[in-house]
Amino acid sequence: MAVSSHCPKPMFSNNIIMTMEDLLPQKLPCFRCGVCCTRYQVCIKTSEAQELAAHLNMELGTFLREYTDPRWPGVTSFLLRHQNGACIFLERGKGTGLTVCRIHSFRPQDCRDWTPDTDRPECRQGLEKWGLHVNSSGEIQGTAEDMGKFRLFLETIREKNGTVHE
Ligand code: SF4
Ligand code: SF4
Repeated sequence: MAVSSHCPKPMFSNNIIMTMEDLLPQKLPCFRCGVCCTRYQVCIKTSEAQELAAHLNMELGTFLREYTDPRWPGVTSFLLRHQNGACIFLERGKGTGLTVCRIHSFRPQDCRDWTPDTDRPECRQGLEKWGLHVNSSGEIQGTAEDMGKFRLFLETIREKNGTVHE
């Protein structure tokens, strides 16, 4: 069937740029890209290492051998080890690329203090994987299609409460 040239144009096309405000007026939540956990090695004090070891039901010495970086010269502080280019506690979902922190409920204080933000280069890098970017006003922008996919994804992870950083 021929389409009349008088048909109205669709309200949204893939080329229309939308901002996050259009679709999701809340603050940016952690969307589990894991970039921050690949970029930094977390520093922990001895007391924190003891707490983590206790949570994992391990002796402190075993915890330090398995999960901290032997190259760190600190005596009363330690660096969490990296493995396969990321924190040893970061787990990547098979096929999805999404990440989760295996010790999320008792993660180190530095990780608790880290919050997602559009100002952070790490979160911006994660947004690029969704085809989104942050403009000079700090707003997330992308096509209607990409923003729609991202919003749907955020709704899904919010329901599952599976963030890396809250
Ligand atoms: S805090 Fe930002 S960079 Fe880190 S995992 Fe969450 S969205 Fe990605
Ligand atoms: S949030 Fe978890 S995976 Fe990420 S750096 Fe901290 S301990 Fe590692």
